[in-house]
Order: sequence, then structure tokens, then C-alpha cells
Amino acid sequence: MATALNVQCTKCAKSAGIATCNGCLAKLCRRCFNDHRQDLLKEFDNVVYAHDILKQKLETPNKNDSHRLLKQIDEWKKDSVDKINQLAEQCRTDVIILLDKNKDELIDRFRKISNRVHKGRDDEDYVERDLSKWMADLKELTDELIKPSNFRIEEDKQSPWIQKIRVREDIHDQAKVKDGKWWFNFVNKQI
Ligand SMILES: [Zn+2]
Ligand SMILES: [Zn+2]
Repeated sequence: MATALNVQCTKCAKSAGIATCNGCLAKLCRRCFNDHRQDLLKEFDNVVYAHDILKQKLETPNKNDSHRLLKQIDEWKKDSVDKINQLAEQCRTDVIILLDKNKDELIDRFRKISNRVHKGRDDEDYVERDLSKWMADLKELTDELIKPSNFRIEEDKQSPWIQKIRVREDIHDQAKVKDGKWWFNFVNKQI
């Protein structure tokens, strides 16, 4: 039991606090002091464990494909390529539909010219003016087949559709102790 002169153990408040922990300044009885050291030993073991794990990681050579930053780059690349493939596929489908539609219209126009040309041959009533008109019409249809005038591919130069990535190095140029905390000056360096 603690006497009036003795300080009580901070932890159990039953026995006299005969030993002081230099760390937390608790005054402890022998049994609680031993328990306290035991608790600190457990925490120390945790530190050693974390220390050993980190040491092992530092001693393992870098594998060129395992770091999460490298994976981040790979993911960006995959996402960007996926975006391009999807959009290219969508645009190809749209163009194929429009080309088919365009061709149907051209076939209609061609039939009309063809009928006139055949009739001209049968009746043998064509003159220079008819020949140059038919030739001009045929050339127009040929051009339209190669280069349709009613649709085209347009590049959107305004919006950056795929976000560019870059690697930035933060240089810790000075480490200072301020108000008991570490403060770092960061300098962004673009590489
Ligand atoms: Zn105690
Ligand atoms: Zn302590």
C-alpha cells in the first residue's frame, strides 16, 4: 500500500510509485513498471518489423515493370489507346454508312445519265453539246465517288481530348526544422 509520503503508482493507483519512466514520466510500482517495459518492448518489436520490411524492399533491385508509377503510365497508355480505338471504330462505322448512302444516290444519278447516253446512241441524234454535257456529268459522279462533297473528317484542334502526361521531379532543396516539424521547400522541376 502507498503511504502518505509515497506517490501512488500512476497506473494501478494501489502501490507506491517507486520508479519513473524517463519517457512518459509516469511514476510506477514495480509490477506496473515491468508491464510498462513489456508494452514498450512490443512497440519496439513493431518498429523492428517495419525496419526489416523496409530494409528488404530497399535491397530488392528495381524491377522495370513493378513500380506503381510505371503502372500508372501503362494505364494512361492503355486508356488513351482504348479511347483512340473506340473513336476510330465509331468514325469508320459512320463513314461506311455515309459512303453507302452516297453511292445509292450516285447510282440513281448515273442511271439517268446512262439512259440519256443509250438513247442518244440508239437515236443517233446527239451533238457536241450533248457529248460534253454527258462527259461533264460522268466526271462529276466519278469525283463524287472518290471525294464525297457532303461529308468529311474534321479534326477538333480546340479540345485536348487525350490528356498529356509528364514526369515532374520535386526537389527537396532544403529541409528545415520549424516549430518542431519538418518543413520542406519543394521546387518543381520539369523533365
Ligand atoms: Zn502499479
Ligand atoms: Zn513510459
